[in-house]
Amino acid sequence: MTEAQQPDVADPTRFDSGFAGYRQLELVSGAGAHVFDAAGRRYLDATSQYGVTSLGHAHPDLTRAIAEQAGRMVSCFASFANDRRAELQAKLAGLLAPLDRFFLCNSGTEAVEATLKLARATTGRHGVLALAGGFHGRSLGALSATHQPRHRQSFAPLLEGFRHVRPGAIEALEEALDDSIGLVLLETIQGEGGVRVLSDEYLTHARRLARERGALFAVDEVQTGIGRTGRMFGFQHADLEPDLVCLAKGLAGGFPIGAVGYRHETVSLKGGAHGSTFGGNPLAAAAAGCVLEVVERDGLVEHARVQGELLLEQLRRALKPGEGRVRDVRGRGLMIGIELTDPAVPVQRELQARGFLVLGAGPRVIRLLPPLITAPEDLAALGEAVAEAIQC
Ligand code: PLP
Repeated sequence: MTEAQQPDVADPTRFDSGFAGYRQLELVSGAGAHVFDAAGRRYLDATSQYGVTSLGHAHPDLTRAIAEQAGRMVSCFASFANDRRAELQAKLAGLLAPLDRFFLCNSGTEAVEATLKLARATTGRHGVLALAGGFHGRSLGALSATHQPRHRQSFAPLLEGFRHVRPGAIEALEEALDDSIGLVLLETIQGEGGVRVLSDEYLTHARRLARERGALFAVDEVQTGIGRTGRMFGFQHADLEPDLVCLAKGLAGGFPIGAVGYRHETVSLKGGAHGSTFGGNPLAAAAAGCVLEVVERDGLVEHARVQGELLLEQLRRALKPGEGRVRDVRGRGLMIGIELTDPAVPVQRELQARGFLVLGAGPRVIRLLPPLITAPEDLAALGEAVAEAIQC
């Protein structure tokens, strides 16, 4: 390699695809709810890296679980049984009963893609009913279910048979759910779509209608799952029984994983018809098993519920939704959105300068997804900083 070909380490984005907008910050380590840049500056990570680091960064139990499993067995294809994978599937079955089968893969997109295929194979129908504002991933199948034009427009034509109806509008649902539809797919809180909480009545109605009309009903819990909303799964707020549940993000605390839960009596697919080389590998299974254990042992779902309510109250008190530039403050658990009347990016930048990392959710919503382990005092400091950054 000549000198001219040496990687330019001074610019950490030099060889990056640039697909994600760069936030002018290089993160090199993390501890708990905080991350550190190369100069040692500390930030509260209220992004959880897009809802992934449910246990925060460098959690000792997760670090140990991954290291131990790495020294034992990393890869084991799905046609061989594996103890770690079986343990994870048993844990998921306990949490998601009566769902009793789990297809394991490596991301949320793959979980959604598998769900689309399972629904087609089971019902023989190719239609999918999804919601306006919904986000389900970026592969061509998952993207067909995703609604926002900014994600779709460069990739037309997408798959046929996908319809999007406005969330909350029951007549639109009744009209669109005809006998071409094999799958109803929705998020219980639309994350990328602006932290929009679907009402329990609407979800219950959609579930009932799907059953009556012979379609499977799937909840995409990729962002809302594993305690994020103050229940283990978002659909539990509405007391639903979905046919399929998609999981990813927080499930393995940062280790790549995806999962689809379903009932073997309801959903069918011939052996070999779908699969994933890395899916269900023992390393990911060990990480996810550890996350589920710690979430339960440390009462993190309850922590997210209680602390989320406090943070929401603090923000509503300080920001007075409906007044000035704040249109709404909403969410459940540690999934909170603040909708502004003007762009969210300058507020996001101001917060970053003050040592708090937050996300956007569409152009005018600030999204908070702090790790489930975030201490009450850090959440209070986050609430204060967000209120100040919006008011300044
Ligand atoms: N579904 C939902 C609800 C999501 O929020 C996301 C990612 O943001 C996905 C699916 C896609 O997941 P991944 O990026 O892991 O492929």
